[in-house]
Amino acid sequence: MTGLEILMGVGGGLVLALAGGLFWLDRQFEEPSAKRVVSVAGALGAKSVLAVFAHPDDEQLIAGLLIRAVQKDGAVTRMITATKGEAGTPLPQISRLEELGTIRHAEVLKNGYALGIHEQLVWDYPDGGLVDQDFEILVARVQDQIKAWHADLIISFWPASGFSDHQDHKTIGAATVEAVKRMRAIDPDTAPKAIAYILAPCAMMQRLGGALGKRVVANQPAPTHAMPGEGWAKIRGWDNHASQKGYVQKTYGMPPSLIHRLYDKEHYYVEEF
Ligand SMILES: [Zn+2]
Repeated sequence: MTGLEILMGVGGGLVLALAGGLFWLDRQFEEPSAKRVVSVAGALGAKSVLAVFAHPDDEQLIAGLLIRAVQKDGAVTRMITATKGEAGTPLPQISRLEELGTIRHAEVLKNGYALGIHEQLVWDYPDGGLVDQDFEILVARVQDQIKAWHADLIISFWPASGFSDHQDHKTIGAATVEAVKRMRAIDPDTAPKAIAYILAPCAMMQRLGGALGKRVVANQPAPTHAMPGEGWAKIRGWDNHASQKGYVQKTYGMPPSLIHRLYDKEHYYVEEF
């Protein structure tokens, strides 16, 4: 064997190992037991979709659902973001720290527009402090908005796990479920027909997510639906969320351009009434 042949052999082995590694990683983001659908909104016959989240950039998790609801099903999409995300860590820092909330408020409006969201509200609850607020008032506000917008499909976080165990996520999820429950008790005909909870990918969280990942998996249900995640929109979304652009690299050790090609689906637990 010449030196060149040895070198080519080693190089080929490395390429194979890398390809195998990427294939394995890709599998960690799949949920084979979930029903595959083209669009969750379409599968449920929804025409008025409302996402209720805690922070600017939470909507990145459901970009596929929002885009496809508009483009494939002719639905109207709307979103509430309960806080301005002022307590987040800027990655990179692109503004004075005391103005981070203003910047992130603008970023979520910009990304919402890019996703085709028809109307958006960004409330002024304190980032990181949603759990300390008056729960009854929060429920009433969500309820009023569902009513005003005649929403038939609600998207939020599963209250026990919040996708990442973030207390704000769990609180907004709990308030949203409570709002829907109360509306259904008053008048099932005008209340939402379903809630779709965005779930974290189980295998990835279990194997690579540390103690937090295991906690999330233990507290969330198995997904009922899987749909294309429109990774290109999420990659673009991190440009819109410029103050959070480095977050994916820091969390996954990979750039958005790679992670959103591996993590290419969205998984939901759908509760139909
Ligand atoms: Zn969040």
